[in-house]
Amino acid sequence: MQLGMMNDPRRDACEEARWAGEHGFTFLDLTLEGPGAAPEQIDITALRQILHEYQMAVVGHTAWYLPFNAPIKSLRQAAIDYVVDSFDLFAEMGVHWVNVHIAQGVYLFSNHDRMRWNGESFAELAERAEPYGLRIMVEHPPEASMNISDIRHVLDMDERLGFHLDVGHANIGGHRLEGLLQAFGSRLAHVHLSDNRGRNDDHIPLGTGSIDWPRAIRLIRKTGYDHTITLEVFSADRDYLLLSAQKVRTWWQQAETEG
Ligand SMILES: [Zn+2]
Repeated sequence: MQLGMMNDPRRDACEEARWAGEHGFTFLDLTLEGPGAAPEQIDITALRQILHEYQMAVVGHTAWYLPFNAPIKSLRQAAIDYVVDSFDLFAEMGVHWVNVHIAQGVYLFSNHDRMRWNGESFAELAERAEPYGLRIMVEHPPEASMNISDIRHVLDMDERLGFHLDVGHANIGGHRLEGLLQAFGSRLAHVHLSDNRGRNDDHIPLGTGSIDWPRAIRLIRKTGYDHTITLEVFSADRDYLLLSAQKVRTWWQQAETEG
């Protein structure tokens, strides 16, 4: 298992990468989004140097608010093209997986159409990512109303799409982690961890919300997954992020011992 952190998009990505390296994270979940880390704000050469210095890998993350399922086709196309524009940068950073987020869209349109538009956008991205050696993984949003069949509808649009699990999102409006892993565990490409109290996507330190973490980690390990896990703990005091990292390592070990 590799443990990483996400750069805070309000801060300078190079400083964030250096902090991650200095504090023992083995990869950076590089989100390319404003206000401080939009693609045009990244100093690619400097960032690559820092990543090299700390031998850190990179996972690709894109803005969570792109309109992949807008009812207007040209807006969907703009979202797709915007992500494609970042492929060069991600490829240069040695990224394998790039994340996208299922959009909720406009409720006036049927759920079927909204999920289909998401899926069509991601299928085009999967196709256009291939020449860069990149793959697309789909993150489910923190919405209780989005169920397994919605996510399946999206993922089934292209078999190359991976599933990006967010354990915090799976806790909004009920305990949905086990069902998600049963449905998509075989397509699991990446994992995000943060705690919350089941209502909002709080991104609080692990163990301070309502998620049963030893159980969650056991469920993830049971799928055979042993790759990248990002802590999305956004406390102002980063001691809580480091404490969360320490706890994940312990729970991961315990899950192994318990089988
Ligand atoms: Zn996430």
